[in-house]
Amino acid sequence: MHYELSTMNYKNKHINPAAKQQFSRRRKLTVEEYVQGIRAGNRVILSRAITLIESTRTDHHEQAQAIIAACLPHAGAAVRVGVTGTPGVGKSTFIEAIGKHVTDAGHRIAVLAIDPTSQVTRGSILGDKTRMAMLATNENAFIRPSPAGDSLGGVARKTREAIVLCEAAGYDVVLVETVGVGQSETAVHSMVDFFLLLLLPGAGDELQGIKRGIVEMADLIAVNKADKDKLKLAQQARREYKNALHLYPPKLSGWTPEVMTCSALEGTGITEIWTNIQQYKTAMQQSDFWTINRQQQAKFWLYESIKNDLSNSFFTHKKIKEKLSNVEADVAAGKLSPFKGAEELMKLFFSGKMSR
Ligand code: GDP
Repeated sequence: MHYELSTMNYKNKHINPAAKQQFSRRRKLTVEEYVQGIRAGNRVILSRAITLIESTRTDHHEQAQAIIAACLPHAGAAVRVGVTGTPGVGKSTFIEAIGKHVTDAGHRIAVLAIDPTSQVTRGSILGDKTRMAMLATNENAFIRPSPAGDSLGGVARKTREAIVLCEAAGYDVVLVETVGVGQSETAVHSMVDFFLLLLLPGAGDELQGIKRGIVEMADLIAVNKADKDKLKLAQQARREYKNALHLYPPKLSGWTPEVMTCSALEGTGITEIWTNIQQYKTAMQQSDFWTINRQQQAKFWLYESIKNDLSNSFFTHKKIKEKLSNVEADVAAGKLSPFKGAEELMKLFFSGKMSR
């Protein structure tokens, strides 16, 4: 009784202001507090740190970079899996199913997303609270919607940085979900170890509907909804995709992608998919491809960031903003060549920035 009363008091604000400040969710944390919280697996603090990554404020950016730098030595241990497929194929249902499977097996899973349509729809992937409702309440799972952003590069970079924090927080399985539209698969592919393509039953025509590049990226293809009246169709689709895969050149990794069937709804085929991912990890670690691939990815992101940062500082530069529309008009009117126009703007941008 006494205990209940004191708990109520705590909740009812009869708490001294200093302590309240201490417990307040919105109190500004130091970099050390963020890092300690993340390392202790505190999901609220992890979430707040990812919000810093997503922020456009300079002070937030600086703090986020300090947190990432401190977390980096503790990152890298997870298996990073990309999951793609057209809307409706069953990605969120699948992630629920595999999330349950891996957490039951003692793993901790973080689910992140890259949604190139988020600018228009304000985040369709993972934005809807009803998606993955079960996994969302699982204490060994962390789910984060796709960050909003004006460029895919920016959004992808934020997700890549979030991976570092999730790994430092002890999540040993990181899923990055994306819809099969635009260039987002390429971005996801460049930040994961294993790329899973989900397809619908009903092959033939569909094979042509899938972008060739995506099939080439896949380390595993799973035909989902292999249940009820779709079971036969799914099995047939599996055979057709398997034959079609022979037409693709061998992968750099030396890995031969499997084509499997699964039912995310009924939970069949999920164990086999997870086993396949683990087999991949073992094989790639033995061959060193695992490390080499991650090194290549890190270099890729270095160059992407340079390009992104240069482009941002160029287009937000005061003098460039003043001059750009005139140059654009001259180029459109044929008075100035696009190359000369670009050269003039570059000179203006670099004038006074550095002596060459
Ligand atoms: P997403 O848009 O790719 O995330 O797809 P959802 O997971 O939201 O699934 C779209 C619809 O397909 C929902 O109505 C699901 O219940 C259904 N669905 C997903 N997986 C399966 C499955 O394995 N079998 C069947 N029959 N339906 C499924």
